[in-house]
Amino acid sequence: MADETKAPGETREFQAEVAKLLDIVVHSLYSNREIFLRELISNASDACDKLRYAALTAPKLLEDGSSEFAIHLAVDKTAKTLTITDNGIGMSRDELIANLGTIAKSGTSDFVKSLSGDKRKDVSLIGQFGVGFYSSFMVADKVEVTSRKAGEAQGWIWSSDGKGAFTVAEQPDTARGAKIVLHLKADAEEFLEPARLREIVKTYSDHIALPVILDPSTDEKDATPETLNAASALWKRPKSEITPEQYKEFYHHVGHAFDEPWHTLHYRAEGAIEYTALLYIPSQKPFDLFHPERKGHVKLYVNRVFISDALEGLMPQYLRFIHGVVDSSDLPLNVSREMLQENPTLRKIQNGVVKRLLKDLKERASNTEEYANFWGVFGAVLKEGLYEDFQNRDDLLDLVRFKSTANDGLVSLKDYVGRMKDGQDAIYYITGDNAANLKGSPQLEGFLAKGIEVLLLTDPIDEFWVPTVGQFEKKSFKSVAEAGADLSSIGDTTKKEETEAAAESVKGLVEKLKATLGSDVADVRASTRLTGSPACLVADAGGMSLHLARMLQQHGDGPKMAARKVLEVNPAHALIKRLDTLDGDAFADGARLLLDQARIVEGEAIPDPIAFARRLSAVMERGLG
Ligand code: ADP
Repeated sequence: MADETKAPGETREFQAEVAKLLDIVVHSLYSNREIFLRELISNASDACDKLRYAALTAPKLLEDGSSEFAIHLAVDKTAKTLTITDNGIGMSRDELIANLGTIAKSGTSDFVKSLSGDKRKDVSLIGQFGVGFYSSFMVADKVEVTSRKAGEAQGWIWSSDGKGAFTVAEQPDTARGAKIVLHLKADAEEFLEPARLREIVKTYSDHIALPVILDPSTDEKDATPETLNAASALWKRPKSEITPEQYKEFYHHVGHAFDEPWHTLHYRAEGAIEYTALLYIPSQKPFDLFHPERKGHVKLYVNRVFISDALEGLMPQYLRFIHGVVDSSDLPLNVSREMLQENPTLRKIQNGVVKRLLKDLKERASNTEEYANFWGVFGAVLKEGLYEDFQNRDDLLDLVRFKSTANDGLVSLKDYVGRMKDGQDAIYYITGDNAANLKGSPQLEGFLAKGIEVLLLTDPIDEFWVPTVGQFEKKSFKSVAEAGADLSSIGDTTKKEETEAAAESVKGLVEKLKATLGSDVADVRASTRLTGSPACLVADAGGMSLHLARMLQQHGDGPKMAARKVLEVNPAHALIKRLDTLDGDAFADGARLLLDQARIVEGEAIPDPIAFARRLSAVMERGLG
């Protein structure tokens, strides 16, 4: 078997994450392992797309092979091999090593690192996720990839049993593209049967725009090659001819996804600019959703020629969770991606696509329960559009949902404004890390007592869009955490005088607290918002919210970003009344404890825990004694 002309191969180990992935793949019973074929066909189709694009500017690349792109399947029942061949872009030696030995994709690598090691759990996670090329080791105990990159003279063979290492060696007489030979496991011989292959290709790869051809096996004398799929771009077919299953399979292919699409939008725009869009909203959170690159996932085709995976300018970044294809014949083919990005027609296509998507979302928002599923996954990303997409801001404001003090579900801004109290002229909100904690915040007490609804904003992004957007239907957004929220003029106003009198009654105490707490607080005030708690911390009006200051500090933006904190005290509270009667150390301990407990409730760290414990002991001793 040894080929004399072959240079000795080089053996390399898989990157740790790949080895881990392969271990799970190889040793686990995978419920539908036939998907390996979909993965390999999908890769082959992508490779042909890439070459077709590269050949637009370098037609020579096509000269050493056929420009009729196709994917061939061949079985050898004696050798027990299944071979998948394409005449696409191929891989160089370095690409074979990098692509089939490491996991380069952002997010994927972290995902694999986070796998628990409990195989049963990991398999179900991977099932939702897909392992691409590596899935071939579910059915094969040895895989050989022979490849020559378009434009290069030398071919290479990559080979592995999936157990920790692979070899790469020179391979003479290699055709352009990639040939993947699977040495099937004893329990995977079903994949040598033409009927089984026919069924798998029909189910998973019918939508692939290239022909997937089953070559006659050597023992079938008169047989001819058989094309197994429809081999036309799915998005170009009429909607009426596409089944839900086909839409779903195409989503899996184009999105490298494994979940059900939550929404499918397929349309053809006609008129000034013509294009076809087939777009999907996933139902599960993609792993790279919050990756700093914020890369899009809509592929651009010009007249069925693949141009780019994620051309900047095709989709706005806040819609980066959309997968699918846009194909237009109104864009130029022979220009660089950079020039295409600047093309005014692309901008118009983006506008059209965004409008259609937002319209569909609005329709789906009428089903509260279904929309809540979408919102839970992608709401925080969609909200980025509130400050990035001025043009569609009103539509986006109709689409945003919030948790609120009014009920356990999600509310829209329209809902909120519709039930505002007499005299209320602002949309009140509070920001923090989670809704349950926020609901217990002392800052809400006065609002709850008066039945004024407060929106609970728990996404970090909320700190940023609210100040930019400013208002909805002429009602300003107002943080309850800002000092001076004067509730006495909203709803029942009969108690207004009482409140003023109460504030007057603690004037002396407020001055004493200011003197004792010094520069630890920006101010001390009588509160109109507290009912059950003695005190709370709020941000100074117009200043940065305490939640934002904490977030910035966690990101290392340090004390220079500190918010100005105001201590509000509840004049009606027994503790406050009692404090007013104290002097000396007893008063100082009480004042400091009051501030520290307000810090704890707000989610802040106590600056000096030892002093806190000493004071608490002193106060308890006096109380218990
Ligand atoms: P994915 O397709 O999700 O990127 P895979 O593990 O399936 O992940 O493949 C890794 C990479 O290997 C691909 O991104 C591609 O660059 C390369 N590759 C795989 N199959 C082929 C092929 N048939 N021809 C050329 N390149 C390929």
